[in-house]
Formats: sequence, structure tokens, C-alpha cells
Amino acid sequence: MIYILFFFIYNPYNMNIFKAMKPDKVYKGVNDIPLDELRSMGKTCLLLDFDNTLGPDHATRPDQYAYDFIKKITDAGFSCCLVSNAKSGRSSGIAKLLEIPCVTYAHKPRPDGVNRALKLLGKDRDEAVMIGDQIFTDVIAGRLASVYTIMVEKYSSREIWYVMLKRPLEKIVRLIGRF
Ligand SMILES: [Mg+2]
Repeated sequence: MIYILFFFIYNPYNMNIFKAMKPDKVYKGVNDIPLDELRSMGKTCLLLDFDNTLGPDHATRPDQYAYDFIKKITDAGFSCCLVSNAKSGRSSGIAKLLEIPCVTYAHKPRPDGVNRALKLLGKDRDEAVMIGDQIFTDVIAGRLASVYTIMVEKYSSREIWYVMLKRPLEKIVRLIGRF
């Protein structure tokens, strides 16, 4: 949240904060994302948040939902990378089990982690899609990195307290931004 305030005051990326908070598209869950449509837009790689996007918040291992989605996108020809703010041990453990690359300590909402993921995959930003459940981390990071950004509704209502604190603010932003 401190970072958001900093953003308001200094605007280091020269982007309107309201634009930065609005995703390109919103879907109920990752399985509702139209992969064909993304492909026809020239997208080839999906940068994925884990907590409450691909599984329960703060899980230490992926569940079937995550395995199935990764299989689905890999079969559809997309490359992917986990972009997580979590401690490196937990997120790299999850990525290892899912057999996908991972960027840890992504520092979302800063765009650094997204940029690191693009470098790791050798992809251009036009080819990438950032997918996550939170405006103040995933959406802003994707928008600041100038990649197509998709927000999904949270996987489960159970989440850690500091994420819960941000949800009422998200509601306000979504009301104003109409998404
Ligand atoms: Mg999340």
C-alpha cells in the first residue's frame, strides 16, 4: 500500500494510476480465459500469479486445479512462468512441482518481476499476458510492464489478513473503473 501512495505522489512510470489499476479483461477464473482469442491476438506466453489465482492462498503445493490448468495451456502451445511475490522457497517449490519456470520476489506491483519473466522466457512484451487476482499487485505490475493484463476473481474467499485488508479498496476501484 505504501507503494501505491508513492505511485500517487511521484508517478515514476508516467502512467495514470487509474489506467494502471484497470485490467484489459476480467474473468471468473483461469479456466474462463479464452485461449483461442489470446492466440489470435498473438499472445504466446502466460505470466501467472499463484496465490488465489491458480490455487488456495499460501498453499505450499499446487492442487489438481493448477496441474490441470498448466496442462491445458501447455497443450494449447503457450509457454508460462510463475511470477510470485512469495518467498523463493515456497514459490519455487510450487513451480518445480508444476514443472514450469518461476520468478520469485517479483516485487509486484513493480514491473521488475514481469520483466524478469519475459527475459527468462525470451519473449517480447507484446506476446505476454499477466494473469492474477489482485489489482494492487498483479494488475498494476502487468500494466506497468506494458503487457496485456487479465484479472481473475479470487480462487477462494480464504486469504491471508493483509490481502483481506486490500479487498475493500479493490471494490472501490472496481466500482469507479466499472470492471
Ligand atoms: Mg494472488
